[in-house]
Amino acid sequence: MEENEISAYQKAGEIAVEVKRFVRSFVKPGVKLLEIAEQIEKKIRELGGEPAFPVNLSLNEIAAHYTPDPEDETIAEGILKIDIGISVEGFIADTAISIDLTPDGEFKDLIEANKGVLASATEIVRPGMKVMDVGKAVQKSLKKFNEDNETEFSVIRSLSGHSLAEDTIHAGLTISNYPNENDAELNDMAFAIEPFLTSGDGDIYEGKVGEIYGLVSDAQVRDGDAREILKFIKENYKTRPFCRRWLVDEGFSKVNFALSVLVKQGILHNYPVLVEKSKAPVSQAENTFLIYGDKVEVTTE
Ligand code: MN
Ligand code: MN
Repeated sequence: MEENEISAYQKAGEIAVEVKRFVRSFVKPGVKLLEIAEQIEKKIRELGGEPAFPVNLSLNEIAAHYTPDPEDETIAEGILKIDIGISVEGFIADTAISIDLTPDGEFKDLIEANKGVLASATEIVRPGMKVMDVGKAVQKSLKKFNEDNETEFSVIRSLSGHSLAEDTIHAGLTISNYPNENDAELNDMAFAIEPFLTSGDGDIYEGKVGEIYGLVSDAQVRDGDAREILKFIKENYKTRPFCRRWLVDEGFSKVNFALSVLVKQGILHNYPVLVEKSKAPVSQAENTFLIYGDKVEVTTE
């Protein structure tokens, strides 16, 4: 990794730490998700970053990929996963926390277990380590937590960490939270480790399409509004995910129509919301790591 790349990853991480501190100070039960998303994205910009993707605010059995629509009235309650991405010159910090918004601390154990498994995985990160050792560390830590606390939490097997690259959230390497045979080595790269836990079965399904989009290919577009929006997307978000909310805020008209045209033409992908199959609550904990030379850094903590 180049020196400027490393320092951009570090700057993004420093912003992430600040934003998480801010989040914990103002996210309370009853606050609208829309308000939370807008405040977080505003804070990221104030601190000199850009949102690397729309803030994911996934409640209860929704595991990931929910961000509020422009008129969203949904209120924060239950267990809330806040997944934040920060880009500095295209280099990304990707981090998530879970917050228990119940009056009686219903999700305290789940969140505690999740923090513990991420910490156990963090402990073993070193240059040249094998990807499969992350999944082993997660499983070992979770098994111990379940035995010690008489809980039956499971890892969500199909959600994984990933390598990061310039303007790219998932840069090709999948870092499973489940034991497998992947003996690829982690060297000279940025990546995220993100175990998701649930009191349910640990499977997810793709729910209805949500508010998050990403550029996946290019083509000629006939409609003038769609063409103008596509140009804006390419210049501003590049290959980083974005949402309808941001385009409405930019003052574009006919956003819904333009997005549907671009999705139909295969230029944009519209991400479905990911839901736990048994409709059980889900937690998430995530940090971004840098390995360069013989150094390991957690940029987002
Ligand atoms: Mn994330
Ligand atoms: Mn991630």
